[in-house]
Amino acid sequence: MVHVLEFPGGYTRSTGPVIGRFLTGLRSGRLFGVRMPDGRVLVPPTEYDPQTAAALGTADEDWVEVGPAGTVTTWIWVDDPRPDHPLDRPFAWALIRPDGADTALLHAVDSGSKAAMATGMRVHPTWRAERTGAVKDIACFAPGEGPAEVPALVPAPDGEAELEPVSMVTLPHRLEYRLRGGTVWNHFIDGMAVGQIRGTRCAKCGKVFVPPRGACPGDGVPATEWVDLPDTGVLTTFAVNNVPAAGAPEVPFISGYVLLDGADIAMLALVSDVPWQEVRIGMRVRGVWVPDAERTRSVKNLKWFAPTGEPDVPFEQFEEYV
Ligand SMILES: [Zn+2]
Repeated sequence: MVHVLEFPGGYTRSTGPVIGRFLTGLRSGRLFGVRMPDGRVLVPPTEYDPQTAAALGTADEDWVEVGPAGTVTTWIWVDDPRPDHPLDRPFAWALIRPDGADTALLHAVDSGSKAAMATGMRVHPTWRAERTGAVKDIACFAPGEGPAEVPALVPAPDGEAELEPVSMVTLPHRLEYRLRGGTVWNHFIDGMAVGQIRGTRCAKCGKVFVPPRGACPGDGVPATEWVDLPDTGVLTTFAVNNVPAAGAPEVPFISGYVLLDGADIAMLALVSDVPWQEVRIGMRVRGVWVPDAERTRSVKNLKWFAPTGEPDVPFEQFEEYV
């Protein structure tokens, strides 16, 4: 199975004032650190003192321009760069302590060869002309003190004429990996392919787990007995989601934990076919499946759970599963 986890268009988040100021500095081709109460300078800066948790960088005088040249404090060589690496030729990942800083930042060093790399070597940043306020505004570091000049900023085509401080970043978010399901997961998926929810039972405590576990988390013994479960149960808790997410239903949508009849652990699922204002803990629900002809070997065959219309289950009957 190949799984892909992705936020199309990237994941947008706010930077906060400290990281935002650091990124704004990168866009101008300058490196800034923040001074801690003990006098040391942190690069990249953090919002809080790692030792005392005191707020950092709240006053202008706490900010210190460092480098941009620095010293390699440790490194590892990459013989075979991957597609998303910053360089398409062999390079080093290095921790680089900019002059005037007491900590090091991680970046790539384009030294040409592994033999040219050494702990303690001097390096300088190679700035891109197209800078957006991101760590990639530094294309890489290169050996030596380097040229002092920074190429004039080439604003992004959709950039504003007057550059505001960086306050938001959009990060690409994609993870692709191969998953070997194993016998337990494969048997579960084979069940889902025919509209059957399968759990496993622990021989010692008798608890039924769904999605199935290969071993009982309480007893540590194999849970080898298969149990066919109905697609009915009780909603033990839920959330109304108002943040749009790729692959999720239109907002507001409901996600919740459903304790299937006969199961001893609640499973995470969507709840639909009911106005969100009417969803409640204790509601009886039944699975809604995709039509037979559309089923694949996937948990997506079970679209969501919908109310059965039966009376609610008193909380005391399922409180130990919440
Ligand atoms: Zn057990």
